[in-house]
Amino acid sequence: MKGLVFDIQYYSLYDGPGIRSTIFLKGCPLRCLWCHNPESQSGKAEMSYYAERCARCGTCVKSCPQKALTMTDKGVRRDRKKCIVCGKCAVVCPNDVIQKIGLEYEPEEITPLVSRDKDFYDTSRGGVTVSGGEPTVQVEFLFDLLRKLKAFGIHTAVETCGYFKKDILAGLEGLSDLILFDLKHNDSEKHQQFTGVGNERILENFCYFVERIGSERIIPRIPVIPGFNADAGSISRILSFLKSSGYKGPVHLMPYNKMAKTKYEKIGRGSEYCDMGELTETMKVEIAGTVESYGYEPVVNQ
Ligand code: SF4
Ligand code: SF4
Repeated sequence: MKGLVFDIQYYSLYDGPGIRSTIFLKGCPLRCLWCHNPESQSGKAEMSYYAERCARCGTCVKSCPQKALTMTDKGVRRDRKKCIVCGKCAVVCPNDVIQKIGLEYEPEEITPLVSRDKDFYDTSRGGVTVSGGEPTVQVEFLFDLLRKLKAFGIHTAVETCGYFKKDILAGLEGLSDLILFDLKHNDSEKHQQFTGVGNERILENFCYFVERIGSERIIPRIPVIPGFNADAGSISRILSFLKSSGYKGPVHLMPYNKMAKTKYEKIGRGSEYCDMGELTETMKVEIAGTVESYGYEPVVNQ
């Protein structure tokens, strides 16, 4: 069984405890306006191109079997209707400015790549995190991969937006040692407006996990986004929900950053980039204080 993977990062420090490798799967049911990984959203492979670093040598244009590429005064233009995402142009580009995003892997091909760092995981209490996109979009591949990682004795974590059907809850519970669970907003209408889906299913799934596995194996993570939830009122409502769910562990905060603009441009979606504004130090301190006032330890991630 193959899965579509868009990145594997080694020595990650922010995707769960200890030193970890993080495997990023393609496909996501949400369309968050602030998404940091727009290349993760589509469930299909796609091409990216970074015009600023292009030497205009024309090698890619000549290599394309579909004649989908032309050289223009703004760089290489790709005709999406003709392109079959074969990746040949990426292979020949001498400057590495064209990339194919989304490569197929069998779980057996990934486990040797990440298990070689098992000593680091073991000494740092780390492991492997499967992220996305939303990893449950490729649920069969995800479960197979987690099973194989566990067979190597590797600690497993899954990073999820929480928007998935109930029938996979038990599988996730059994195969993930830790669930990193995003909570974005308590107002479903606002959630819908900024992410494309309401929050009911997400909140129900979170409660399921807390009830079943307690607070030790799940960490709520709040992306802190100006203009969406970066205010004491919105954060308080999420914290009230956490209290009512019975959760007792730390609360991770993921501050907004503007690093994604180039990523949107590279995949030809530059016009969709949404600048959510500034997240000031004062706002961060206020939000961390709000988390503390509810009796939770705030952990600010990058
Ligand atoms: S991915 Fe293949 S078809 Fe698409 S532009 Fe590159 S070489 Fe042509
Ligand atoms: S091969 Fe690479 S550097 Fe040369 S024109 Fe194509 S994208 Fe630019």
